[in-house]
Amino acid sequence: MNHSNISSNAALPPTGGAGSGARRRPTHEVRVGNIGIGGQNPVRVQSMCTTSTMDTDGCVQQILAIARAGGELVRLTTQGVREAENMRIIRERVRAAGCDVPLVADVHFNPAVADVAARYCEKVRINPGNYVDAARKFKNLEYTDEEYAAELQKIEDRLIPFLNICREYGTAVRIGVNHGSLSDRIMSRYGDTPEGIVESCMEFLRVCVRENFNNVVVSIKASNTVVMVESVRLLCKAMDAEGMTFPLHLGVTEAGEGEDGRLKSAVGIGALLIDGIGDTIRVSLSEPPENEIPVAYSLLQAARLRFTKTEYISCPGCGRTLYDLPATIQRIKAATSHLTGLKIAIMGCIVNGPGEMADADYGYVGAARGKVSLYRGKECVEKNIPEEEAVQHLLAIIGPSLTPPVGGRTSSPLREYQTADSGNYPLLKDFARENRYHPTEAESLLWERLKGYALKYPFRRQHIVGNFIADFACLPKRLIIELDGGYHQLPDQQVSDAERTNWLEQQGFKVIRFSNEEVIGDIEHVLSIIKEHLK
Ligand code: SF4
Repeated sequence: MNHSNISSNAALPPTGGAGSGARRRPTHEVRVGNIGIGGQNPVRVQSMCTTSTMDTDGCVQQILAIARAGGELVRLTTQGVREAENMRIIRERVRAAGCDVPLVADVHFNPAVADVAARYCEKVRINPGNYVDAARKFKNLEYTDEEYAAELQKIEDRLIPFLNICREYGTAVRIGVNHGSLSDRIMSRYGDTPEGIVESCMEFLRVCVRENFNNVVVSIKASNTVVMVESVRLLCKAMDAEGMTFPLHLGVTEAGEGEDGRLKSAVGIGALLIDGIGDTIRVSLSEPPENEIPVAYSLLQAARLRFTKTEYISCPGCGRTLYDLPATIQRIKAATSHLTGLKIAIMGCIVNGPGEMADADYGYVGAARGKVSLYRGKECVEKNIPEEEAVQHLLAIIGPSLTPPVGGRTSSPLREYQTADSGNYPLLKDFARENRYHPTEAESLLWERLKGYALKYPFRRQHIVGNFIADFACLPKRLIIELDGGYHQLPDQQVSDAERTNWLEQQGFKVIRFSNEEVIGDIEHVLSIIKEHLK
């Protein structure tokens, strides 16, 4: 939603190098409303409403809550034509609230519902297990080759009109197979196997290819993580063999809730992400859907695919630990959590410490009882500092101009056009550029009204100040404007935002914040406030 932190919407390039994201399986881009899935886009995070689609108010509230949490697509169940029709009203209400998150209709059993939903949503999910094939009766039916081919023809005859509607309305499609809903036809030939799951999907994809309809995302889900991972890997091989590059949606169905649900999703989705597979994910939890979003982002960060927070690499401690490890971790977190996008290692001793933290940008390592050594990458830059001074030294190494105002003012105010931290500039500038290429709707809207001295002063967007990227900055007036997306409501983020604002103010900047909704809903009011600050 918003890029106020250095990497909130940035994807790591698929370098495949140590410490960065795995080389991603090449896929083509599918457009879903105002976002892209696959291609060079970051792995998208999505969730699904738990409300009845006839409960317009309930759906709108839940969609907004998911979007505020950072969800990039929201799916709604669409049982019948009534629900599909109501999607139109829901979408209108959501757009009127200033939220442009794409909506996805989830259709089972009735292709006519998909035809209607395709007119009102940005994406429609259909399930090959029940799109045309009769609902599963668990009978061990026998099909001759001719009968089987005739059934396939039926699928093609029904699917093509639907694809034509999607083409007309610019609607994307998800071909979403669930292990639990394979048709009797597929079961009769392949049994309950990963091969059957994959073939169920491929039958539909071949029709899409023949029809030259490429705006398709694919998924195979199962509640059994082993089946899910094996089937998706097999699907990728099958698609590769036929030259298909459809992006993948990953998820573990019925994962549960709490720690168990999170772990199950992390195992299934994480295994595939590490393979380089996956272009959008949904972490399914039996909890309010907005709870799924932070888990999804943490999962993506653990897979080195999207960086949304500072990462701490800390050892578990053992008999060799040379300082109070848990307390030190908390102190370092408190002092550095605003430095989004960095990896900081905190290791109890020198024996294994430096080797095991090679991936980190900075390291804090026990050197002797009460003494700490500090590292920048693999290089030891300060040795044997008294433990009580070490956190301040670490902050100084991260960047003198970045040091947050822990215990007092920091270095002199930054010069007007040299506001970036030189040490982190290469990393930051990539994130800033990524943010400029992928502005939110609110950012685009505001930039149109700020650029070209429209308010008599020059503004820069995604401007680096210290170790932060400001959404907009007017340097002559030392004014910074931040646009807040939903995740700024999260308690941790609010602490981070406050620390960041505090530090920027210490550098002589005035920081003003607006929500995306304020900008989209009443930009004239927003501009009048900005003008006041420019006086
Ligand atoms: S880094 Fe040192 S203190 Fe930490 S677990 Fe390893 S040996 Fe123990």
